[in-house]
Amino acid sequence: MSQFDVTVIGSGPGGYVAAIRAAQLGFKTAIIEKYSTLGGTCLNVGCIPSKALLDSSEHFENAKHNFENHGIIINEPKADIARMIARKNEVVEQTTKGINFLMDKNKITVFEGLGSFESATQIKVTKNDGSSETIDSKYTIIATGSKPSSLPFITLDKERVITSTEALNLKEIPKHLVVIGGGVIGLELGSVYLRLGAQVTVVEFMDKIIPTMDGALSKELTKVLKKQGMKFMLSTAVSAVERIGDSVKITAKDKKGEEVTVEGDYCLVSVGRRPFTDGLALEKAGVELDERGRIKTNDHLQTNVANIYAIGDVIKGAMLAHKAEEEGVFVAEILAGQKPHINYNLIPGVVYTWPEVAGVGKTEEQLKEEGVAYKIGTFPMRALGRSRASGDIDGLVKIIADEKTDEVLGFHMIGARAADLVAEGVIAMEFRASAEDIARSSHAHPTYAEAIKEAALDATGKRALHM
Ligand SMILES: Cc1cc2nc3c(=O)[nH]c(=O)nc-3n(C[C@H](O)[C@H](O)[C@H](O)COP(=O)(O)OP(=O)(O)OC[C@H]3O[C@@H](n4cnc5c(N)ncnc54)[C@H](O)[C@@H]3O)c2cc1C
Repeated sequence: MSQFDVTVIGSGPGGYVAAIRAAQLGFKTAIIEKYSTLGGTCLNVGCIPSKALLDSSEHFENAKHNFENHGIIINEPKADIARMIARKNEVVEQTTKGINFLMDKNKITVFEGLGSFESATQIKVTKNDGSSETIDSKYTIIATGSKPSSLPFITLDKERVITSTEALNLKEIPKHLVVIGGGVIGLELGSVYLRLGAQVTVVEFMDKIIPTMDGALSKELTKVLKKQGMKFMLSTAVSAVERIGDSVKITAKDKKGEEVTVEGDYCLVSVGRRPFTDGLALEKAGVELDERGRIKTNDHLQTNVANIYAIGDVIKGAMLAHKAEEEGVFVAEILAGQKPHINYNLIPGVVYTWPEVAGVGKTEEQLKEEGVAYKIGTFPMRALGRSRASGDIDGLVKIIADEKTDEVLGFHMIGARAADLVAEGVIAMEFRASAEDIARSSHAHPTYAEAIKEAALDATGKRALHM
């Protein structure tokens, strides 16, 4: 029987990063993945393919609507969805192959097959052809991720009533895509097809989209997406989804309790994701789940079984690739006797619509609820020279700082390149910077980042310079 110090089950961003860090720290490491490609949800059907399609559709949108304004005259552009999907597949293939390279480089043994516990220290790997082998492992890290969830009354036929996985592989541009759920995934994939010419209607149970982000971002994003043509049915509770031939009829109750219907040719159900533990035979190792089906872990991400740890989407916390990665490194270092730390308050959240939306730290709503005295600085993107040069004038930066100490407590941005610029907020808060620290740091001109400095100036005595 093969023996390993550390075995990771699942090769998503949590699992493969945990395996690399474990190998770096000198552990004899194995990784088990049931699919033939490594990289998990993120690389195969999540972060990377969605961003590839978002980039392609944005080029199309620019060619169609913005080139002329820049003095570029082209014939009416056409969207070739088959080519876009093929390009996305090429990006995915290159990226997942990169993980194989990293496994080889770090001398990590890769097992292709379903991993299931035989005991707390033995894991069976069952291949597609039914053959199996059992390996022995001192420590195991469960990183089996998540799957799209649905509502009990919805039948996902995966043709017309689809999840994000199918939405990344459509053979045609929908005429009318109805998206159930105004969260990150629904808005990103809704944006892809909106830009390609589909009518897009988002049906959301809450009274706002991206409800966990700062209210200012939700408000601005709603405004911008409406301007782009996206329709919203907020405070609307879906009660039935019915496939009728090539159409899908969605029935819901609006906030007055009245029945409303909307019909499209595709319905994307993006109401969240559920932790995935099917087939792991956790009971054979004695690993416990919590009331929401997540693997129960303590502060060290250790399960109730001492030598078994769990990370990423399968445990509590935000379902984000970079959170899973931090946890992968964290557990490997714990096993090596180090004392790593993760600040869960500083895991940024991003929505890759255009403009992009990003936030980290506390939202204004959270601070209100916690009774913390705070002050706010904001700056609109449209006041920047950089924004006017590119034409990306929508959005704002909002910095929230402690009323007394001036420490930055929250960083929220909607605007061009917010996904990359949120890193400034993360670093500032990791080093417990004050708004004054940001305000006094030189930001290159002309850049979108100047809006951050201006918002910090606004937070510290209303002294923004370009307003
Ligand atoms: C459309 C979409 C877009 C997204 N965009 C972003 C984004 O832009 N940024 C971001 O941070 N996050 C994004 N996410 C979320 C991100 O993909 C997840 O948070 C991340 O993949 C979680 O990583 P993980 O390692 O926990 O699990 P996963 O990536 O889900 O990987 C789990 C792996 O375990 C394997 N597995 C499961 N059970 C077994 C078993 N018994 N034996 C062997 N293998 C098994 C699975 O096949 C899978 O490969 C997106 C998700 C979706 C669906």
